[in-house]
Amino acid sequence: MAIKHTPLIAQYLNVKRQAPDAILFFRLGDFYEMFFEDAEIGARVLEIQLTSRSKDGVPLCGVPYHSAEPYVAKLIKAGYKVAICEQAAPETTVGSSAKGGAFQLVAPAGGRGAGRGLMPRQVVRVITPGTVGEELVLVAGEKNFLLAAAPDGGGYALAAIDVSTGEFIATRVGTGAAAREEIARIAPREIIAPRGAGGAAAIARELGAPLSAVAEDWFDAAAAEGSLARRFGAEWRAGTDGEPAPAIGAAAAAAMRYVEENFGGDLAYLRAPRLYRAAEFMLVDEVSRRHLELIVSSDGGRAGSLLSILDETLTPVGARTLANWIVYPLLELGAIRARHDAVEELFDADLGGEIAESLKRIGDLERLAGRIGGLRANPRDALKLGQALTAAEHLKRALGGRRAALIAELAGRIRPLPELAARIDATIGDEPPNNPRDGNTIRAGFSAEVDELRALALDARGVIARLEAAERARSGIPSLKVRYNQVFGYYFEVTRAHLERVPADYERKQTLVGAERFTTAGLKELERKILSAEAGLKELELRLFTGLLRELAGSAGEILETAAAVGEFDALRSLAAVARRRGYVRPEMDSGRALAVRDGRHPVIEAGMKAGEFVPNDVAADPDERQLLLITGPNMAGKSTYLRQVALIAIMAQMGSFTPAVAARVGLIDRVLTRIGARDELRRGESTFMVEMRETARLLEGLTDRSLLLLDEVGRGTSTFDGLAIAWAVAEYLHDATRAKVLFATHFHELTELARERPRVKNLSMAAREWNGEVLFLRRVIEEPASRSYGIEVARLAGLPASIIERARRILKNLEAGEFDEAGGARLARGAEGAGAAAAQMGLFAPLERRVIEELRAAEVERMTPIEALNLIARIAARLNGGGES
Ligand code: ADP
Ligand code: MG
Repeated sequence: MAIKHTPLIAQYLNVKRQAPDAILFFRLGDFYEMFFEDAEIGARVLEIQLTSRSKDGVPLCGVPYHSAEPYVAKLIKAGYKVAICEQAAPETTVGSSAKGGAFQLVAPAGGRGAGRGLMPRQVVRVITPGTVGEELVLVAGEKNFLLAAAPDGGGYALAAIDVSTGEFIATRVGTGAAAREEIARIAPREIIAPRGAGGAAAIARELGAPLSAVAEDWFDAAAAEGSLARRFGAEWRAGTDGEPAPAIGAAAAAAMRYVEENFGGDLAYLRAPRLYRAAEFMLVDEVSRRHLELIVSSDGGRAGSLLSILDETLTPVGARTLANWIVYPLLELGAIRARHDAVEELFDADLGGEIAESLKRIGDLERLAGRIGGLRANPRDALKLGQALTAAEHLKRALGGRRAALIAELAGRIRPLPELAARIDATIGDEPPNNPRDGNTIRAGFSAEVDELRALALDARGVIARLEAAERARSGIPSLKVRYNQVFGYYFEVTRAHLERVPADYERKQTLVGAERFTTAGLKELERKILSAEAGLKELELRLFTGLLRELAGSAGEILETAAAVGEFDALRSLAAVARRRGYVRPEMDSGRALAVRDGRHPVIEAGMKAGEFVPNDVAADPDERQLLLITGPNMAGKSTYLRQVALIAIMAQMGSFTPAVAARVGLIDRVLTRIGARDELRRGESTFMVEMRETARLLEGLTDRSLLLLDEVGRGTSTFDGLAIAWAVAEYLHDATRAKVLFATHFHELTELARERPRVKNLSMAAREWNGEVLFLRRVIEEPASRSYGIEVARLAGLPASIIERARRILKNLEAGEFDEAGGARLARGAEGAGAAAAQMGLFAPLERRVIEELRAAEVERMTPIEALNLIARIAARLNGGGES
């Protein structure tokens, strides 16, 4: 169906083709308009009115161009791309050097356009979530990565760039699952992959990151080599052992190209890719990170997460560093101890005063350096840089006498560049504007030319006042005024009453109701001088500022290095401050495989309680004797908290933090994995039990005797027997086939019998006590299984009638009797190959009595002879009394 569009809509559709997957901001006069589907999305996300064109009913919404930036930011944050379409030749709309306005959406002069034809329009910039450097969109404590995923064999090469800081990382992973994990850990704002890479698309969808498909040849390995070498020279590949896989180069080059095409500024400050292997860090998968609430808590916010407790950083770069440490705990003893040494030393140091003050003044030096390096900085940024460098110098001095090697190293990496700070101080005035075009940027005394022009411009007022006085005297008009407006420039204004006294050399410019406006040759000359002084001044100031900016940009690399060192120091300082305030201790790290914690606490739950309210608990686990700790106890007893605190302590120790305990000894742990049994809500369209089982399956792969596994109520999401059977089999497998340390919390009391069968299984439980008719949870872990009749006790305390309680006790006894075979072994444990296996299995889940009832139900009594009926009864009686089958 061919629709006849108006010329404007036809032009729109044409432009839209340049950026089909972006929301098109189509410049129309003073507005950016969105049409069709874009209008619907825009109206919803931006909460603005959706209308339609009266001419053709096309859906429409728009935002004023001069205040478009917050709207653009909102769409970007919501994961959309935004294409800016301007209505003039592109060279007058975007520039590469510094300008005001967060997105550099600089509006060209001119309104709706002269003449009858349409103005030419085209896309001048596509802003995407992964390629923005603008403060308006960035989150201070979070990195802003664009990630390129290149399928490579069964695995992927991954490369990620944060344009706000120039950080560039790259790695390769062997499987799709590992790629998903690593991408989740990097948490990119946007992903690019070759068109048709279904696996990458699925990962992006799962992680909720917007995906941009690009042509396959973006990922061409041979071409990648060239483009990386051109930009980074030999540095590309530095720090890798041997050649990086070609696919890594391909991913890195694709990421670079995408950023170059979409980023609105210079990228000279981009650092060479840092290659790493995921296996260099403790593995905490995404599910576990979520369960343990490392970065965000279960309600989706930061409050209540481990990060929220540990983050007392004073700089955004420090906050980003600390968050990074939490998701990349270390595996190397030396590096872990180096951080602990530093925290220990800072623990006793005065962290307020000079150090804190300097850090606060340093601010977000990293992103500042990004803006400087990208020539996007404004005069206030330059001023901030000068102050930050001076503060960095103070910090470096304050760290001078420190013993810890890591602190000394960081202090060494801080380069305060005093000559640069001095240069900024000499060049930029005390109160510069945001926009370098506004003038008033350059400090008095820096340039004689600036001073002269400024004096002239400033002096204009005096000159005008003198002229006004002189003209009043000459004409004898006491109310004569010299005025100025944008349209007419300078003029004399004379009220109607005095018109006859106007001197002959006055030229009329404009007639108003009560007055007339005039000019003279002298006034015109003066105006020309004043305006050209002002314009010249602004231009000169802009030129001087741009020159300074280019000079500063040349040092962006060193400034970024300084920022990184400051960030690391700030993270260490934060860990020390938290450790001291919350009473954490330095964990003892070794290369063994045991984990021993005395009086450990949960750092987050403890923080929400009054001092002393949280009950500390020990843990001792190792692969040889206490491999699988089975923790039983009723709901609300504290099982989950106990499990999580053990995991958190391990992660904290290896990220370099002190730990909430009286003492902790941690043998290096290679992975911390947790699984929490599903509740029965539905998520992602499949049963949560399915999710739970898939997660459980995934976690059984790759376990070593250094792994720490926490299973919390696994099997809860299905029927009791299914769930119990699965929980039992999983526990058994973990004991028999692995030496991973396992903490297994369960309400399936039957599992405690596993300890009879398996030597490295230990039964623990949460102590509880009855007191004044109430159940008291003591929150203390004890080395014995939970009392079986616990639930009945609670029921009794809750006031269920005595007869029901009595009956419940009897039924429980029967059930318990069924749990063991004649030899006292746990029935659940019996293998299928054992004698009478089938019967035992039946017996377990369908007690004898049940089968008897089934048999009675099946009997066709009305067809039976009395003898047959008697025989049936006899048979049943014999069976129930333990006799053989007939
Ligand atoms: P379970 O998993 O056994 O049902 P939880 O671990 O969820 O129990 O704990 C229930 C609540 O008990 C927690 O929300 C917390 O408020 C409190 N709690 C748990 N452990 C402790 C402890 N060691 N000291 C103090 N309070 C605790
Ligand atoms: Mg629980």
